[in-house]
Amino acid sequence: MAKEIGAEELGRFITGGKVKSRREWRGIEDTLYDYSRWLYIMAQLGGFIMKPRNIKAMFRYRWMANYLGVPAMVDRHTQGLRGPYLRMAHLEQDLVVYDVAKLLDNLFRGDRRIGNDEEFSKKVILFDENEMTSVMMGFPTVKGLSRETPSTYVPVLLNQKAVLHYIDVCQEYGLPGDVCPMPAAEAGVSIDDDAPILGAGAIQCNTTCDGSLLSNGVIGKRLEVEDGIPIFQMAAPLRHQEDDVQEYAAQEIKNAIAFVEERTGEKWDWNYYFECAKRVNIATRARLYWLDMNKTDYPQVFGSNLALYTETNYMAISGKVAAFADVDQKLTELADYAYKNKMMMAKEYRHRAIVWGVQSHFYFDFLLWLVNCWGIVPLTDMLSMVNTRMIAEEDTPENREQAYRDMAWLTENMIMRNRTHGGYKVLLDQLWEYCEEFNADTVILWEHMACKALTGMHGQFEEKAREKGIHLIWVSHDLFDPRIVSRQEIRDQINNYMRTVFREEPLDPSLEVLDDDNAW
Ligand code: SF4
Repeated sequence: MAKEIGAEELGRFITGGKVKSRREWRGIEDTLYDYSRWLYIMAQLGGFIMKPRNIKAMFRYRWMANYLGVPAMVDRHTQGLRGPYLRMAHLEQDLVVYDVAKLLDNLFRGDRRIGNDEEFSKKVILFDENEMTSVMMGFPTVKGLSRETPSTYVPVLLNQKAVLHYIDVCQEYGLPGDVCPMPAAEAGVSIDDDAPILGAGAIQCNTTCDGSLLSNGVIGKRLEVEDGIPIFQMAAPLRHQEDDVQEYAAQEIKNAIAFVEERTGEKWDWNYYFECAKRVNIATRARLYWLDMNKTDYPQVFGSNLALYTETNYMAISGKVAAFADVDQKLTELADYAYKNKMMMAKEYRHRAIVWGVQSHFYFDFLLWLVNCWGIVPLTDMLSMVNTRMIAEEDTPENREQAYRDMAWLTENMIMRNRTHGGYKVLLDQLWEYCEEFNADTVILWEHMACKALTGMHGQFEEKAREKGIHLIWVSHDLFDPRIVSRQEIRDQINNYMRTVFREEPLDPSLEVLDDDNAW
């Protein structure tokens, strides 16, 4: 019985505590497969913790404790999944977990407080998590590492309360309390002196907004003045759709490359660049193929399976890790199989939705909840609608010049930034175009209350949705801070709309109200 999708009430496993009462039963084959992936994750964690320098880091950095929640995060993103959807989720999560473990390992290797490998550190350039790493596509011997990814961005996906301490530290220091919790937490980590110290230099970019710039300033001060790590400030144009800014943007890329060469003594490698460029195109082609599938009656790669993977693949990886191209291929094979067999992720699809705005990070598995609880299919989301252009991938003299423009284009169109900046066309007009293309009847609009780039447009979204007859469901949240809007308060905004406007009953009533305030 439990082999069937929707056979078990998923809300019954929530205990009110950190962990669930038991694992989900998905029939013999899927349960065994799921369990084997759980063992794999545990082995990854075990292998990571066994290294003495990682144990040392566990005790040095407060945010490291959140990594105990990795298995719980994977479980959240696989709730109710069977067959190809379960395999897609695990393929992605396994790779993302592996990649983050590698990032942590590298950070602690070079960290002056932990591994203190000075030779290694000389070949490291630090990157903000809120920035594309495409400028590293021609440096096979230099590592571009982000400290914010493992200290703030990933922990919030693991544990909803992960960065509350750092948000408070930022405010106690005197910085404004209404700033976005993402840059606030990143600044808080730096103020708390809780970030690894390493690298021959750092690149900061004017992504994604005023809050992000503020946090870069705080972090930059500690890096340059106290740690002696010089920073290159890359100013990517905000009007990224305009032709007249592209030349300037390309010049910024050249300047950033010159900075990396000067700081590390390494030389730009065109062979490696074009190898990475091919893989960026593989990722873009695969994503466009999945999105086309999602325009039909049988969408296949959507929700968490699309969003979390796209963010990692596009920004942090940017063609530099071959394993992602292999997973792109495997995901496409699974999607093809499911599509040919007219398979569905939930027992019933009632509404087709575009998810817009910047999503709440402490409740990223909300996309899966939408399908499981109400049969709302999140066909795509704002952060997954990134670059759709193919970049030059053959090594020719003309393409070497084009490559600078391509890297600039990728950087300007970084996730979030490509919609929160760039004008009406990218934030408003394209939403309605996507609604038509994907045949969506609903828009779930994340309203991140501290994101000034988006909240100012509230009225215009309302007006247009009314004109087009699209159901617009607002979901307020505060990105990294569940004290302001909790997971249940997020769910209730959907629950209320579904009951009062659509007058529907949930597919799985046990998911409507969950006692998960204390869960990871
Ligand atoms: S969510 Fe908005 S305010 Fe926060 S970092 Fe992104 S653009 Fe800036």
